[in-house]
Amino acid sequence: MNFLEERILKEGTVKEGNVLKVDSFLNHQMDIDLLDEIGREFKRRFRSKKINKILTIEASGIGIACLAAYHFDVPVVFAKKTQSINLDGDMYTAEVESFTHRTKNKVIVSKKFLGPKDRVLIIDDFLANGCALRGLIKIAEEAGASVEGIGIAIEKGFQPGGSKIRAMGYDLYSIAIIDSMDSRTKTVRFREQQI
Ligand code: 5GP
Repeated sequence: MNFLEERILKEGTVKEGNVLKVDSFLNHQMDIDLLDEIGREFKRRFRSKKINKILTIEASGIGIACLAAYHFDVPVVFAKKTQSINLDGDMYTAEVESFTHRTKNKVIVSKKFLGPKDRVLIIDDFLANGCALRGLIKIAEEAGASVEGIGIAIEKGFQPGGSKIRAMGYDLYSIAIIDSMDSRTKTVRFREQQI
């Protein structure tokens, strides 16, 4: 079992509706040593790629993305959520449905911060149905940037996002993949992965 899987078993709680709560180390209080280890693991996994920018989405991806960016020595750009419908042409936009809040948000990235010269690693905390990732991929592709890889902390492998994104040909790596979890028995089962 890896460091993140151990932490999930120790402190994560399984909620109804296929939601895993990791508020004590990732989504509310943040354990920076753990985020640092996650960042280092992404650097190890994607060391052969010439990444010059990390792309993530507001809000919960930002912490992990920052520590990963520290290890790659590159900047982070995060897609911002906005209510505005009158956006000028200086933005890339995508529509993203939130898994946890069941709301649709427009997310934007300024054209100033992403373009054809960028070789991007996309980072997020969770992968469920893949809506957030598809929004970020759309933005990167609109910008003419290449998506060199995708790093996820926790993938819920029983939901369809991961297999869809892999079928699209992206190099997706999740540090912990949950194959099943049960809010009644409070159990979480991980997928064995070759590192
Ligand atoms: P997706 O777009 O893949 O359906 O969902 C990914 C996004 O939803 C992540 O950015 C994350 O913020 C949130 N999310 C999805 N599932 C969970 C979960 O089980 N627990 C938490 N804390 N966030 C989740």
